[in-house]
Parts: sequence; structure tokens; C-alpha cells
Amino acid sequence: MKEVDVILRHLPDRDTVKELICQVGFLKNFLNFAKSNKIMMRVCSLALIGIMSVGVSIAAAGITLGLKVNYAGAIIATIKNSGVFDTARKIAVDHIESSDAESVIENPSFSMTLTVSNRLDSAVTVADAIIENTGDVVKAAALNVNGERVACSEPEVITNLLEARRTEFDIEGAQNSSEFTDDVETVGGYFLKSEVTGKEELSSVIESLEVKTVSVITSDTEIPFSKETVKTSKQLIGYSKVTTAGQNGITRKTENIEAVNGKVVTRTELDSIVVKEPVTQVTTVGTAISTASPAQRSEERSAGFICPLKRGSFVITSYYGDGRNHKGMDLGADKGTPIYAAAAGTVISSGYEGDYGYSVVIDHGNGYKTRYAHASALCVKKGQTVSQGDVVAYVGSTGYSTGNHLHFEIIKNGSRVNPVSYIGLD
Ligand SMILES: [Zn+2]
Repeated sequence: MKEVDVILRHLPDRDTVKELICQVGFLKNFLNFAKSNKIMMRVCSLALIGIMSVGVSIAAAGITLGLKVNYAGAIIATIKNSGVFDTARKIAVDHIESSDAESVIENPSFSMTLTVSNRLDSAVTVADAIIENTGDVVKAAALNVNGERVACSEPEVITNLLEARRTEFDIEGAQNSSEFTDDVETVGGYFLKSEVTGKEELSSVIESLEVKTVSVITSDTEIPFSKETVKTSKQLIGYSKVTTAGQNGITRKTENIEAVNGKVVTRTELDSIVVKEPVTQVTTVGTAISTASPAQRSEERSAGFICPLKRGSFVITSYYGDGRNHKGMDLGADKGTPIYAAAAGTVISSGYEGDYGYSVVIDHGNGYKTRYAHASALCVKKGQTVSQGDVVAYVGSTGYSTGNHLHFEIIKNGSRVNPVSYIGLD
């Protein structure tokens, strides 16, 4: 059984104590009466025994006189004497983080009381009670920078603001470690309400702290693909096709970035690897002026056509095909250069014909027709027969044309074929 329980058991209740005090008063009177009354001596000695037994029982219970401390409107402790409060006051003042602490401690009032000696409060306990009951004192935290207090506020408020400031310059997606360059610490304690830092001031104090951030960041950069052209004689001049699509590669770089208040101080490359090689774009272009077989070309050469412009009077500006479904050959020449019938035949068309502009079509009667387009002037009429080498028109740029040239077509059984071998330009 605990000692406290024993005491409680022996502790007389309020009524008993009152009765005891009454008994003491009664016995005093009784003793005076007994002194003057010898007859009563025997009775007196009996009474004395009673008084002594009461005294013994009070001492056994540890009952003692004490002082109730009334502080700031509340009973905060029971102490042995006022000296305990003086000591407590000193302890409390020491515990409050202010040079003005003394001024906020109120003066107590005391009242006598009977109590159990074990129940008397110690100076340390009373100091705690003083702090707790002093309205001008709050539990808070000091923000110390390099050992000097720069602010004071609720610990949580300081902690949150410090954390926000410390991580303010972290780079998203990086591994960051950041710290204040100064020695920053928060110390909990008791402070005067009047010395608690205002919100705005606290924010500005914390925002003025310098932060060093070290970030390890990995980033990808594209490696642009290169381009390459491959020539093929299997396709006509003008043919162009992307045969391998280009793809950008990727370089993955890891860097260590040190910054102060977000301003980069050093940037060190830790690693750089190509995680994806670029793929070269390949464009295949045609170099052939004809895709016909040698035998076929030889046959076409001997089909009986001549070149419709005199050698030396023109340059080939576009071949058949030419990547744009060009169904004839373009021979660039000066305006007015004579155009000759490639073979003998009958003019079946001579006039202005849409995109062809001024043009002539001759039917050679053996399944072949020829067309001469973009002329500046025409020399033949529909229905007229012409011999090979007759002038049928003059070079121009009529119709859908961007410059003086002859657009020449050979139509074999209704289909426009490549004239290059027929007119000996291959
Ligand atoms: Zn053309």
C-alpha cells in the first residue's frame, strides 16, 4: 500500500478538524476550572490524557499549518510559508525567456490552512503554477539564428514557415537536399505575450534566411536525326520518297546543381548516356530518265520520231514523270523558237486548250499522236496534213506555264508515254 493512501486514511475530515479545535478550546477552559477545583483534579488528569491522545493522533496524521496561495484569482498551491512562493517566483522568472519577466508576475495573497505536510507544494511546482496562471506568459518557441533570438511564435507556425522556406528552391522532379546556410534552430519555452513576433514580421524574418539547395536532376534531350539521300536508277528523275523515317535520339543527362536562394552556383554533369540512338532519315531519289528496258528503248529510238526542237536551241527542264505525274517532257527555249512536227501526220487539234495553252495535236496514224503545248503562236489548222520537220508552232508560255518552253507528249494507243528515247534524248 502506498504511503499516500495511508495518510488519506488517517486524514481527519473537515468536521473532525473543527471538532478537534473545539475540543482544544473546551479543554483549556476545563483546565482553568480544574486548577481552582482540586476535587476535579482526577477528572482533569483524565481529560489531559484525552487531550494528549488527540495531539498524538494529529501528529501521527502529519497535520500542519500551511498557506493557501491565491494567485491571479485562483488557488494555485498550498505552501509551507511565503518564502516558498519567493523561491518559486525566482524559478518562474528564470523559466520565462524575457528580461521583463519579473514585471508580469503578480502578487499573491495567502490564507492560513491546515494541511498534511506531505501535501505541501514545492517551489518548483508552484513556479509551474505561476507560469500557467500568468496571463501575459505563453508557451511558444524562439527562432534562433546563429545563437541569437530573432523571433518568437507558436512552434508549429515557425516550423511550417521554416520548412516552406527551406524547400522553396527545390527543383521539381529532382532529388533535392536543402539547408539554411546559417545555424537555425527553434527552442521551446515560455515567453511574454507582448514579445511574440507578428505574423508578417515572422514571415519576412524567415524569408530572409539564405537557403542552399543541392539538386540531382535527370533530364532528357533530343538528338536530332540526320538526313541522307540515296539515289536509284530504278526510278525516274524527280522521284523522291522517304524510305526510312527519321527518329530523334535521346540523351539522358544527370546533373548536380548547387544553388543559393535558387541562383545556380555550380552545375556539374554527373552522367550523360544516349538512351536512344537517332535513326537517320533516308530519302531515295530517282536518277533514271527512263525506266524502259534497253531493248524497249532501242525500239522507241527507231520508231521514226525526230526531236521537235533543233539541237542546241533548248535545255531539258523536266523529264517524264518527274515526281509529279508529268506525262511529257519540257524543253526550255526562247520564245518564238520554231517547233517541228516530230513525224508526218494529220493535225487533229490546233488552238487554245486550257492548261496546255496554245497547242497542236498531230495523229500519225500508226497508233501514235504527239502534242505540242504552251506555244506562243500556232502555224497549222485542224485537218491539215504535215510532214516530219514542218514548223507547227512557236515556243511560248501560254496556259499553265511558268516560263517559255515546249511541253511535248507522245500518246501511244491513248496513253501518254515517255518521249525521251523516241526523240533521242536518252
Ligand atoms: Zn510539261
